Amino acid sequence: MRVLIIEDNERLSLLLAEGLARRGFSCDAAGSLAEADDFLAVTGYDALVLDLGLPDGDGVDWLRALTADHAPVLVLTARASIGERVTGLDAGADDYMVKPADPDEIAARLRALLRRPGTRDPARIEVGALHFDPAGREARFRDTPLRLGRREAALLETLMRRPDAVVPRETIENAIYSWDETVSANALEAVASRLRRRLAEAGAGGLVHVVRGVGYYLGEVAE
Ligand code: CA
Repeated sequence: MRVLIIEDNERLSLLLAEGLARRGFSCDAAGSLAEADDFLAVTGYDALVLDLGLPDGDGVDWLRALTADHAPVLVLTARASIGERVTGLDAGADDYMVKPADPDEIAARLRALLRRPGTRDPARIEVGALHFDPAGREARFRDTPLRLGRREAALLETLMRRPDAVVPRETIENAIYSWDETVSANALEAVASRLRRRLAEAGAGGLVHVVRGVGYYLGEVAE
């Protein structure tokens, strides 16, 4: 699950990104609204975490100007009054939390937002007997749960969303890694190897295929 954090307090932004990464989210961090626009222009996000007091404007005004089909927005702010909460929600925020907020609760609220009907992501993805729950980051083959790390889960999810296509390397890397992570040439292949191993352990071997220099695809999954 890819999250854009829009927060000008660098320390808080870093803590948040680290906390969410440990809980299975892939995070990018924008320090201003202009920076957030730049990120949004090139990448899709599953959810946004938005501070309201930003150096180049007010998050509420920015939120009002977002297109109608934007990703779910969790406002995270020091503004605690009821009136301010209502303003935030009226502007199009999907949820509202007051700082300081516990990373576990933020992660839980983000997962809840993604489970809501009408959000871009389907509740769960199924390809043959392979199941993936994007909200809980849980995968299973038939009744066997797959014990996947964050990156392996993100790779599987990306491939399962496009089961009939070779998914380009770049698309996969965008889904797995944040922008500030350095990706070595072999990193993705290592993630794919670990995923293959986990799938094989669950009885679903031979599913993750590579087309050298192009990308990866999911083989036919048994029912
Ligand atoms: Ca701020």
